[in-house]
Amino acid sequence: MGIPATIDHDKGLAVAAVNLPIENLPIRDLVVERTGLPTFVDNDANVAALAEHLFGAARGAENAVMLTIGTGIGGGLILGGEIYRGSTGAGAELGHVAIQLDGPACQGNCPGHGCVETLASGTALGREGRAAAESSPDSALGKLLAEGSEIDGKAVTVAAQEGDETAIGVFDLVGSRLGVALASFANIFEPEVIVIGGGVIKAGDLLLDPARKEVRARALNPMNKTPILEATLGNDAGMIGAAALARTELEKQQG
Ligand SMILES: [Zn+2]
Repeated sequence: MGIPATIDHDKGLAVAAVNLPIENLPIRDLVVERTGLPTFVDNDANVAALAEHLFGAARGAENAVMLTIGTGIGGGLILGGEIYRGSTGAGAELGHVAIQLDGPACQGNCPGHGCVETLASGTALGREGRAAAESSPDSALGKLLAEGSEIDGKAVTVAAQEGDETAIGVFDLVGSRLGVALASFANIFEPEVIVIGGGVIKAGDLLLDPARKEVRARALNPMNKTPILEATLGNDAGMIGAAALARTELEKQQG
């Protein structure tokens, strides 16, 4: 299973979640109790990273960074061909790396400020979209707002894809913020590839081009050339990765 929470790998606990009311939930044992089946638990972005590593955009890469961008930003690392989970299974929460010292309070249960999650997630895209709609009432986004339509990440994406300059400007802002974080990840891990998935990646290069520009400008040589690619498994990445996790862990148990 993939859960959007920090995980205690040995105990099968969902320790805490930024965007869900979860605390020390013994999720593995609860599922075993109800199904009678062997169950393995990991962070949702970790299993998405595993799926992209085995079957998707990071196939063949020994070292890869994956972000899943939706309500929040999940992070998964493949290092030396394996998921990197930190000391107990809670790593790697790449969405909660700060990119602004005195930035806004992070969302949900994160005590941080200026995290990339709060500045470049789908939630941030909607928030910046609403602000842009208010300040540019003549734009397509502004007209949507005047009609009483909800300005969320999806509405900003559609408006930008239809050529609305205001919506494109929102992507430039949010994509640049994302790129600041990606430049750091590139510098730290020197991955062969950075893969971006989650609902927001439907915007494709609208989001990734400004991010790539920041990585080219900010990361050290040769990390400034790190390819930044769209995930290829879409919303199935979590399921495929969870299945792959179960297979791998069962094989380990059976020696
Ligand atoms: Zn945070």
